[in-house]
Order: sequence, then C-alpha cells, then structure tokens
Amino acid sequence: MKERTPERRRRLEEVLRRRQPDLTVLLENVHKPHNLSAILRTCDAVGVLRVHAVNPTEGVPTFNETSSGSHKWVYLKVHPTTEEAFQHLREKGFQIYATALKEGARSYRQVDYTKPTAIVFGAEKWGVSEQALALADALIHIPMLGMVQSLNVSVAAAVILFEAQRQRLEAGLYDAPRLDPELYQQILEDWLMK
Ligand code: SAM
Repeated sequence: MKERTPERRRRLEEVLRRRQPDLTVLLENVHKPHNLSAILRTCDAVGVLRVHAVNPTEGVPTFNETSSGSHKWVYLKVHPTTEEAFQHLREKGFQIYATALKEGARSYRQVDYTKPTAIVFGAEKWGVSEQALALADALIHIPMLGMVQSLNVSVAAAVILFEAQRQRLEAGLYDAPRLDPELYQQILEDWLMK
C-alpha cells in the first residue's frame, strides 16, 4: 500500500475534482494494446473517469508502456456485446456519437460535448460495426484533407476528446467536483491504495 502523505492526497484530490463522469468513450474491438494504452492516457488527460470497451485486445485488456500508468487512474468497463454497452450508456443518459468515415457523418466540431456524451471508436481494420453505427444517435468524423483515408484510432480519439475538453473548460465543468460525494470518496480511497 502507498504512503498516505498529505501531498499525495492533495494531488489525487486535485485530479479527482476534475474528473468528468459524463464524458466517455466506447472502444469497439480496439485490439492493439498500444492503441488502448494511448487512448487511456488521453482519457486521463481530459478527465474521463471510465472507459467502456467491447472485446478489448481480443478479450483481455492489456496495456503497455504507452499508457504511462494511466490505466491505474482511468477505469475500464468491459461489456460482453456492443448492444449491452449501448444499453448501459443509454441508461446512464449518454448521447452516443459513433465515429465513421462515411458520407453524411457530421464534423466532430458540431457536437455539444458539454452534454453527457459517449463517443464510439472502432478497430484499425474494420472501423465501427454496422450495429453500432445503427444504434448511435449520430455519426461524426474528423475531416481528412490529405491522401490517406483515416487516422490511427488513438489519434482520432485525442482530436475529439481535446475538443470536448476545450468546450468543457469554457463551460466551467472542470471548476468544481462533478462526482457525487459518495462516489468521490469511494474513488479517492481506491486511488490512495494504488
Ligand atoms: N477502414 C476503417 C473504416 O473504414 O472505418 C478505418 C478504421 S480507422 C483506422 C480506426 C478508427 O479510428 C475508426 O473506427 C474511428 O473510430 C477512428 N478514426 C480514424 N480516422 C477518423 C476520422 N477521420 N474521423 C473519425 N474517426 C476516425
């Protein structure tokens, strides 16, 4: 168990006060540990509390040094199916945007990320499944003006999540704790043990 110094507790509380329980990502079959790790690292920087995944790294979430330890601070909830993941997110009141390199997808800049928002990202080869595209509220894309069709999934996640961070900073959503007091205490205890 880690030492519970006042400095460490202060640092953990500083980060916890900025966590955003109503901003998340759903990773559908994001198999490569370095992509999963890089996305968790971005989520930590943006204040995402919990990441959702279906079939990460072929069933068993594994991380590598790309995460820089962020997997200790960002919770990962693994769902058995895409349908179950959507149901869970809907019950929690999330609007759900799926990323898609398709005509008709709106620019990621046109989304209001200050509302409870989940963004779905897909696998390197196949992208987001047809099922998830159909279940989502809307499709979004990052405009690509060069020769290649798509970004690496962790880069795409960073671009969109930092737009969400920009909007939330402007809206003052990092200024006061967003977690209900009971959950805040629970997580603080958990973090103090790490
Ligand atoms: N061939 C796949 C397709 O057609 O969707 C490419 C998948 S891409 C390499 C992997 C994931 O990164 C996508 O499913 C999406 O989540 C994200 N992504 C990559 N480029 C993107 C872009 N320009 N806009 C939005 N998401 C993007």
